Amino acid sequence: MGMEAVNNTVVQSYPAGTGNFYPSYRRLLDSGELERRVEESKKHLSPCTVCPRNCRTNRLENQKGICLAGKDVRVSSYNLHHGEEPPLSGTRGSGTIFFAGCSLRCRFCQNYPISQLNNGQDYTIEGLAGMMLELQDMHAHNINLVTPTHVVPHIIEAVSVAAKKGLCIPLVYNTGGYDSLSMLKLLDGIVDIYLPDIKYASDKHAFRYSTVRNYVSVNRMALLEMHRQVGLLELDENGIARRGLIIRHLILPHDSAGTCESMKFIADRLSPDTCISLMSQYFPANAAYRFEELSRRITPDEHAAAIECLEKNGLENGWIQE
Ligand code: SF4
Repeated sequence: MGMEAVNNTVVQSYPAGTGNFYPSYRRLLDSGELERRVEESKKHLSPCTVCPRNCRTNRLENQKGICLAGKDVRVSSYNLHHGEEPPLSGTRGSGTIFFAGCSLRCRFCQNYPISQLNNGQDYTIEGLAGMMLELQDMHAHNINLVTPTHVVPHIIEAVSVAAKKGLCIPLVYNTGGYDSLSMLKLLDGIVDIYLPDIKYASDKHAFRYSTVRNYVSVNRMALLEMHRQVGLLELDENGIARRGLIIRHLILPHDSAGTCESMKFIADRLSPDTCISLMSQYFPANAAYRFEELSRRITPDEHAAAIECLEKNGLENGWIQE
């Protein structure tokens, strides 16, 4: 992604456990709490309240809501990914699992064949757990769950199965940031690294471009909860992420993403030490061409203005995509 590291905290000591890292979900497995979370999360599938859309479909009977997910978990692909932020990809790659379907319907989504056309293959819980273990065997630094919001119950159950069979690398929850508080609370102690977007600072823009009415308040509550659970980014002695929060922000043309307002929220309400990944890769994909203001890439001036927003708010940790 052509990113540049600015500043990072290095944490060098970890509790005794698997190697020098003992993921929090293994503690929940040991105490029996993970099993309770599996049962609790499944209750949200019927009627479906897994994400803030609250479609209330009966997913256990395979009724599908806005995200297009039914009772099974659909995966588009899984592999070692070397293009994530440096502490996630490291030297061996991030073990990404791309889930099909999505509760957001972003008009400019660059992965729309996966997120909106639902391209992928259905897996059983054991199949998903096997995928996690296979990625670990391939020496992935972490399991990177891409677009996980609508399949949280499946993920929790698969982690429970995989942890019993030896899964012991950090879990990354890589989300568009439209996550309900109740599901995030069920993920407390399961997810080690949160990687959410802050997409918009205006509900008007969120509705126009992603068809959700309450993105800003939901997203901000989610970010506060993620920060409460895992805190600032912690790296090991090799610069690999072990725990914490990285927030992604995609700069949109004409400041449609509300960059300065979002950065101010992070600095004021979370911490100016929060790790930010500022992304400039926007191009008009999917149905973006229908919106004149989104029908081009960002300009050098817009890129510079977004960087100024970081500086103005004292946000010095993270990466800026060139
Ligand atoms: S997870 Fe899917 S079906 Fe459930 S509430 Fe969200 S969009 Fe609707």
